[in-house]
Amino acid sequence: MGRGIDFVSERARMVDRLVRSGYLKDPTVRAVFLAVPREAFVRPEDRAAAYQDVPLPIGSGQTISAPSMIAIMLEEAQLRPGERVLEIGTGSGYHAALLASLAGPKNVVSIERKSSLAEWGRSNLASVGFADVTVVVGDGSLGLPDRGPYDCILATAGAPRIPDAWPRQLNPQGRIVAPIGSSPRAQVLVVASRRSDGRLDVREGTPCAFVPLVGAQAWPK
Ligand code: SAM
Repeated sequence: MGRGIDFVSERARMVDRLVRSGYLKDPTVRAVFLAVPREAFVRPEDRAAAYQDVPLPIGSGQTISAPSMIAIMLEEAQLRPGERVLEIGTGSGYHAALLASLAGPKNVVSIERKSSLAEWGRSNLASVGFADVTVVVGDGSLGLPDRGPYDCILATAGAPRIPDAWPRQLNPQGRIVAPIGSSPRAQVLVVASRRSDGRLDVREGTPCAFVPLVGAQAWPK
């Protein structure tokens, strides 16, 4: 599947739709969406659907998020080159590749609890030039203190609340972008900024429906 498809044109059309529907406003975020080939991060049988604005299955009951949702998160993250980022939930590696295009591959660490997905995400990233992104297997509800502190912690799975471990691993003025909700499959996107006294300013945004964050400071197995 996918042979003979002009993915470059498909990608440009998807970006155009995201701009027209108001999801993509920041020209820098638009440029990274144009640069990263989403077809390299979906299963071979789903390549023809790579540029539809829908989540797609990636195995193990998980999904690669819809491009519009990723656009919202990236615009909220306001990443600048050189900032350190922790992504929670590597999955396919697509979101990590976009983060790496914004912050620089060596500045991005992504943690995934399922080793098979971590391996697949790592190889997808390497196949399109992002081998310098670090992918770690572990429980991201605890963050990843050894590699921090971070300017941004961005979660792509939904937690019942912001885990206590995350704010402690942020730099001053660091941000958390995460789906948070009292149901495992329905959340709102929360954007939290660390104040100088270490507390968080929290803003609630778009309703969303991510797979659950499963871990010691999140949903139980
Ligand atoms: N960012 C991914 C992408 O671009 O394909 C989408 C990931 S999917 C929506 C959410 C991922 O979070 C799944 O791969 C799931 O296994 C992972 N996950 C769930 N709980 C986790 C945890 N505690 N630590 C790390 N990863 C977790």
